[in-house]
Amino acid sequence: EIVYLDGAFLPADQAKVSVFDRGFLFGDSVYEVIPFYQGVGFRLEEHLARLAHSLDALQIPHSDNLDEALNKLVAQNGGGNVSVYVQITRGNAGKRSHAVTADITPTVFACCQPIAPIYETGPEVIEGARVIVTDDLRWQRCDIKANGLLANILAMRQAHEAGAAEALLQKEGWINEGSSSNVFIVEQGHVITPPLHKGILSGTTRALVLELAQQHGVQVTESNISYERLIGADEVWITSSTRGVLPVTAVDEHPIAGGQKGPLWLQMFKLFTRYQQGLMTG
Ligand code: PMP
Repeated sequence: EIVYLDGAFLPADQAKVSVFDRGFLFGDSVYEVIPFYQGVGFRLEEHLARLAHSLDALQIPHSDNLDEALNKLVAQNGGGNVSVYVQITRGNAGKRSHAVTADITPTVFACCQPIAPIYETGPEVIEGARVIVTDDLRWQRCDIKANGLLANILAMRQAHEAGAAEALLQKEGWINEGSSSNVFIVEQGHVITPPLHKGILSGTTRALVLELAQQHGVQVTESNISYERLIGADEVWITSSTRGVLPVTAVDEHPIAGGQKGPLWLQMFKLFTRYQQGLMTG
């Protein structure tokens, strides 16, 4: 396995980061997870734009030609279907101090791992997911894709202990998103997702689902979702780069859509996978 570190492509066991790296000491870093299908980045521009937003919000300098580096990394690992993880830390300050100095160079790391492309999966094979709802204990800048993921990890552990695939996070009466996904509901043929704010990550899959819905005459509205609205919905979906558009068939102990995958999910799944296939075949 070849990884990318600060301009170099090298075997994973030879890639070393300093113990004084601020990513290690403080979680002073941001990241992205980007699917590549047949060696080509899916919504790469959107991921890099979000990365730029995260870096800007923390005043970490951008790195040049990152898209080139990621493409080369994927090629060096044999192309194909992989998810690329890229992490940029504020860098190695040579000592532990909260204060940020301007003279340090960010550490840029990327690696990839094989994934199964969603568009090669038939909708009949997709299993409806069970999710739980738990308190959103995260900080107030979840629009930044930062590495401090303790609250997400606690929530996901809680989900797994309950035999669920995801934890939806609730704050001040509203369901914001999942621990690593965005959330959608369907009410009488109408698709609804919470509006973006600093408590939610601007999901690239969320954006694509909104785009596809608008293009194909599916009614969509951005509106806050309460717990009651969630469990009373006709359908619930979660979206992410790695999971695509996933139907939720139970929230806590409440079945959704009678425990079945809903018709609008099926329509959106088809639009989504056709869009991916369209990119693949040009
Ligand atoms: N919210 C959170 C908290 C996430 O970690 C993710 C995964 N990146 C998402 C939403 C979904 O974003 P995307 O569709 O860009 O993968």
